[in-house]
Amino acid sequence: MSNTVAIHPALKERLNSGIPPRLDEDGNQVRAILMYSGGLDSTLAGLLLKLQGIDVIAVNMFTGFCLTDHKRKTGKLRPDGSRYQNEAIVGAAGLEIPVEIVDVREGYLKVLTEPTYGWGSAVNPCIDCRIHMLGHAKRELLEEYGAHFIATGEVLGQRPMTQMKRQMKIIEADTGLEGLVVRPLCQSALWETIPEQKGWVDRDQLLHITGRGRKAQIQLAKDLGVLDYPQPAGGCCFLTDGNYGKRLRDTIDHKNGAELTFEDVLVLKLGRQFRLPDGNKLVVGRNKADNDMLKAYWTLGHFLEVRGHSGPLSLYVGDRESSDFALGCRITARYSDCPAHEEVPVKEMHQEEVLAEHMTLPLPRDEENAWKIQ
Ligand code: SF4
Repeated sequence: MSNTVAIHPALKERLNSGIPPRLDEDGNQVRAILMYSGGLDSTLAGLLLKLQGIDVIAVNMFTGFCLTDHKRKTGKLRPDGSRYQNEAIVGAAGLEIPVEIVDVREGYLKVLTEPTYGWGSAVNPCIDCRIHMLGHAKRELLEEYGAHFIATGEVLGQRPMTQMKRQMKIIEADTGLEGLVVRPLCQSALWETIPEQKGWVDRDQLLHITGRGRKAQIQLAKDLGVLDYPQPAGGCCFLTDGNYGKRLRDTIDHKNGAELTFEDVLVLKLGRQFRLPDGNKLVVGRNKADNDMLKAYWTLGHFLEVRGHSGPLSLYVGDRESSDFALGCRITARYSDCPAHEEVPVKEMHQEEVLAEHMTLPLPRDEENAWKIQ
């Protein structure tokens, strides 16, 4: 298995030339906006619509919390040794459908920190997140693309938080999309939608897949001629990760009423994180990729780095007059290659500019664990 979508040449040939276009009552090509991840379910949903002669535009929503995207940026490799790629882009290329990556970060912080329908087991505001994404698709994309409806790869009962009938209804009602979301993999187990009533979609060709198993989708992929598709990589979103959840809750608890920024929550993806005794924060890069990415968060505080020895870049966030600052220097030195019992200079920097150097004795190994978040 690779990390992209590949379809049989016969299916490709059929899609490209063998299917008459499905037209609406005015003779216009029926078009769908497909919420597309590049995974198997949304790939199959797109194919089922294409096989009905419907024009499919794939959209992939960017929130900043995609795990695969983070792994790709940090240069991690997949278990099979291949590089992580944007699965929506490579999947859409395999299907030969257009894809747009849509930035939906505006307004997402409120979704994340004050979800109307609450968090899941970590800090995943899945119902509000779906409302945010589908609402964006309705407001910004349906008209722009002249699309008739929105489609998803959802399977009834697959995810308890968003893919149950009641939650699907809530999401449609809150976005004003009642009856305008078609779920080709399970629609025949659900209500009849407007596109079906109007004849834009043939209900008889929509499926009845339910539950958390994957067998039906794998069989369908075989039947249709999908030769290859990305394997689920064990979670796709930081917000479902328990450790990330602890970090975010800690940040919310220590904001003292101030507004959170995207930098405040995105930096939580990086390195080791410490909440120091006076309430200030230290982020210590784990490796070169972390150190490089940490540099983008210079607006949050000052950087610390040992001079003359290799070691991490740290970001100190908070009051530098506090005794936490010296402790942050000691923790930074502890993770460097400097001798354990010798004072070393720790540079304090604003971006690349060195503001001061602080002679520092490294903290004894493991003492820092008392302030580690997670
Ligand atoms: S898993 Fe993440 S991206 Fe998916 S709905 Fe939940 S919060 Fe949104």
